Amino acid sequence: MSDSTTAPAPTHDPFGFMGLTYDDVLLLPNETDVIPSEVDTTSRLTRDIEVAVPLLSAAMDTVTESRMAVAMARQGGIGILHRNLSIADQAHHVDRVKRSESGMVTDPVTVGPEATLAELDALCGQYRVSGLPVIDDDGVLLGIITNRDLRFVPAGDFERLTVREVMTCMPLVTAPVGISSDDAAALLSRHKIEKLPLVDDGGRLRGLITVKDFVKTEQYPNATKDGDGRLRVGAAIGFFGDAWERATALAEAGVDVLVADTANGHARLLLDMISRLKADPAFAHVQVIGGNIATRAAAQALVDAGADAVKVGVGPGSICTTRVVAGVGVPQVTAIYEAAKACKPAGVPVIGDGGLQYSGDIAKALVAGADTVMLGSLLAGCDESPGDLVFVNGKQFKHYRGMGSIGAMASRGKKSYSKDRYFQADVASDDKIVPEGIEGQVPYRGPLGAVSHQLVGGLAQSMFYVGAHTIPELQERGRFVRVTPAGLKESHPHDIQMTVEAPNYTGR
Ligand code: 5GP
Repeated sequence: MSDSTTAPAPTHDPFGFMGLTYDDVLLLPNETDVIPSEVDTTSRLTRDIEVAVPLLSAAMDTVTESRMAVAMARQGGIGILHRNLSIADQAHHVDRVKRSESGMVTDPVTVGPEATLAELDALCGQYRVSGLPVIDDDGVLLGIITNRDLRFVPAGDFERLTVREVMTCMPLVTAPVGISSDDAAALLSRHKIEKLPLVDDGGRLRGLITVKDFVKTEQYPNATKDGDGRLRVGAAIGFFGDAWERATALAEAGVDVLVADTANGHARLLLDMISRLKADPAFAHVQVIGGNIATRAAAQALVDAGADAVKVGVGPGSICTTRVVAGVGVPQVTAIYEAAKACKPAGVPVIGDGGLQYSGDIAKALVAGADTVMLGSLLAGCDESPGDLVFVNGKQFKHYRGMGSIGAMASRGKKSYSKDRYFQADVASDDKIVPEGIEGQVPYRGPLGAVSHQLVGGLAQSMFYVGAHTIPELQERGRFVRVTPAGLKESHPHDIQMTVEAPNYTGR
């Protein structure tokens, strides 16, 4: 970066320094021996967690709930569950991700023998599983009930029949806790079974291994997993009202990362929240990210408070109006560069949040000093984001809205949990809210797997051009050239009417 983007020493000059964003810069091509398909995109998410792919899905109610979080973790990134929902509902989403795929489910969902098949069906639907171990009141394994047992039961009998009448009873093929994954795979295959309950000496159920998890492991080799082989997940919290209760419930549900997330992370109360979380042994196994900030001083304050990563972005988001409503913000490339000055010496990773429009912006963020990026609009059009498809003039779209939009902050009869992100929790009526975001729609983009392929593929191309085999090498070797408005115009397709959209380019 050139000197003109460096913050000067504190001065009374109110005009400060020049701010640049993604469209203001391009990466310089470099001598290279890199093959795009062979690059390593592993990067640091927090002090203690690495991701194979440096992408996070945004904590927004039109982007990340459990379905998106599962898909993101499988692709090698991570999803951050939004907080515009009750504590119980958000914790339930954490639970769903943690149970979705694992080496061993340590606390499997179970059913009692006297439950009706209709109750069983509801449980399976809630947890998206195909069958459940059956246990008595002491936790002793009585049998198992799966799709196989239900196949020939007429739907009309579901209210009448109980699990006991239909289940496959003990003795079943079981294994002791601590069985290796190779031995478990061998047992599953030898007995042609899909579920292997793990029991202790007293016959009590202690865990479950499923064949699905072995298939998924092969299918998603980059998946972001914890030490027990479960997918990792993050969740947003605030610092106001019931934030501590929320953090506690999320930690109990097994969340890996808490993101203390507000529109101005340089707020005393947010810094206190981070220090308290880091000092409390109940959160010893949870990483804490703080944000959002856009200056070096704010990044330093978060580092000093003990944050395990710092999230950068005040106003760059596609749905965000903070910069026009409040006149506040820092163009995102400069904001990342400034934050990194405080974070890098402390070994604290930086997350560039918002404002990315194309895959090329990922490498620009990383070269500016980010370790990962958080995406909203680029993922809101995926199958896995909450919300239905909308047809407009024969084209498919999905709803996407800012968490500071009227739609997300207004209560309209229900409680809004999003207002305090914008420090407006005390605003009593909806018509007094000062929104900092808008609502809209983005083109439908299909499954996350395809979108992520293009985004990571674009990053691999950047690494090839810059001559970087790894993300640290990209950060080391990357250099920017600043572009003029004419240069930006030249960067996009020009002097042609586009007739076929590319999967990674639909126009400006
Ligand atoms: P995008 O990827 O769409 O450009 O930006 C997503 C990011 O915008 C989110 O991760 C979040 O930090 C930020 N954001 C989400 N909703 C709002 C909003 O209503 N107002 C503002 N100022 N920022 C928002």
